[in-house]
Amino acid sequence: MRELLSSATAEHYADTVHATVERLAGRLRTTTQPFSGATPEQLRRLVDAVDLDGPAIGTPAALQEVDELVTAHSVWFHVPTYAAHLNCPVVLPAVAAEAVLAAVNPSVDTYDQSGIGTFVERAVVDWTARRIGFAGGDGIFTSGGTQSNLQGLLLAREHALAGVADRGTTLPRLRVVASASSHFSVQKAALLLGLSPDAVVLAPSDALGRLRPDALATTLAAIRAAGHVPMAVVATAGTTDRGCLDPLASVADVCAHDGAWLHVDAAYGCGLLVSPTRRHLLDGIERARSVTVDFHKSFFQPVSSSALVVRDAADLAPVAWHADYLNPHDSDEPNQVDKSLQTTRRFDALKLWTTLRALGADRLGAMFDTVLDLAAAVHRWVEEDGDLVLVGRTQLSTVLFRYQPPGVPDAQADALVPQIRSALFGSGRALVAKTVVDGRACLKLTLLNPGTTLDDVVGVLELVRAAGAALVEGDDLLAGDATAAVR
Ligand SMILES: *Cc1c(COP(=O)(O)O)cnc(C)c1O
Repeated sequence: MRELLSSATAEHYADTVHATVERLAGRLRTTTQPFSGATPEQLRRLVDAVDLDGPAIGTPAALQEVDELVTAHSVWFHVPTYAAHLNCPVVLPAVAAEAVLAAVNPSVDTYDQSGIGTFVERAVVDWTARRIGFAGGDGIFTSGGTQSNLQGLLLAREHALAGVADRGTTLPRLRVVASASSHFSVQKAALLLGLSPDAVVLAPSDALGRLRPDALATTLAAIRAAGHVPMAVVATAGTTDRGCLDPLASVADVCAHDGAWLHVDAAYGCGLLVSPTRRHLLDGIERARSVTVDFHKSFFQPVSSSALVVRDAADLAPVAWHADYLNPHDSDEPNQVDKSLQTTRRFDALKLWTTLRALGADRLGAMFDTVLDLAAAVHRWVEEDGDLVLVGRTQLSTVLFRYQPPGVPDAQADALVPQIRSALFGSGRALVAKTVVDGRACLKLTLLNPGTTLDDVVGVLELVRAAGAALVEGDDLLAGDATAAVR
């Protein structure tokens, strides 16, 4: 069958993929903006114009259509003026490895589906565990930090309920402690795990939004005094907005004293594991019981690439289920499915494996360091600018700020934040994010591109200034008009 990838279609496969890659290379050569600037209405119309029940158009035409419909309007994370969210440009060996995955289509669940993949994934997990500082340890690749956090907290829940006679009465008493800056996936995980709606307790934090060990101890004591059970403490190593790290060693001390399970969410900060200059920011992570790492954030890996790593391999046991058709109890084969929430699962580990072989860990760490240095330089630049106001400091690579020239009151500066973001997005020339910090709106840059220069970022900030000025002058100008100002 000509449609299927098989020995009979090897040549057709090569032609199809080569043509697709050539077309993409052409896009890369000519793309200068992170986004086309098309409106939601325009994009919806383009998609609606395609009739999925219409006559088939054949593979070359379908791929041509994808190029014009999807690729042309994609958001490009590698363009230096993309500075919105935690998306990184990707390293070439990983992109090539992704092509291997697309064709071989492995599933790392049972050994008989993925023999070599099983050992490669285990080697990459072991490498990560060693970088964390776990002697031994184990883990599993997941779809992302959200799933890694869910699994970490699932293991913590099962640990808290182990040996409990009546799960039903203990479950509503379980509490998870985190800072207000922790990722929203912690709250989602609590919901999915059947905890009570008020299970996530936000402990007081310092001026940078980091857990305060003294306040954490008080919070844990109050939970126990109320007859509740601290199921886990979630420390964040790299908060999504501020890019700050909870003080892991002191938090580990408090957890050790209380007996609480420490989960470190290093979805963002995991790049420090290979940093030649800043690994010390993660000191104490080796005392966590479970750790989330997102290689698709700070290891320059394509989506998806994430892992949950545990200090004690036995802690993964609660997710092991056995089926006669897949991984029976008496199977002596090393089945990765025994460690995962998923069954069919991508072999994402191959991308990091290939990257480590091709570039080495030091190179990746140096690349992450480059963006941290860039963020420091941008902080200094914003601090000295008369129209921009820096909001807080970072330990990683975010920049929080507002456009607020002298004379612009706080309320107006806050109102400008979403308008400026929309103006830039509408122009397609630069993408920035927005968030709320300490109750006030602010713009956010997330810098993850080691190819981006200070000049590139200053260019983005100049677009922010132009949009902001147009909005202030036009008073109630719509963002569309400000978009014209930055075109
Ligand atoms: C991004 C992020 C997550 C979620 O990870 P996904 O890969 O997007 O699911 C969790 N925690 C933190 C701190 C993050 O920044």
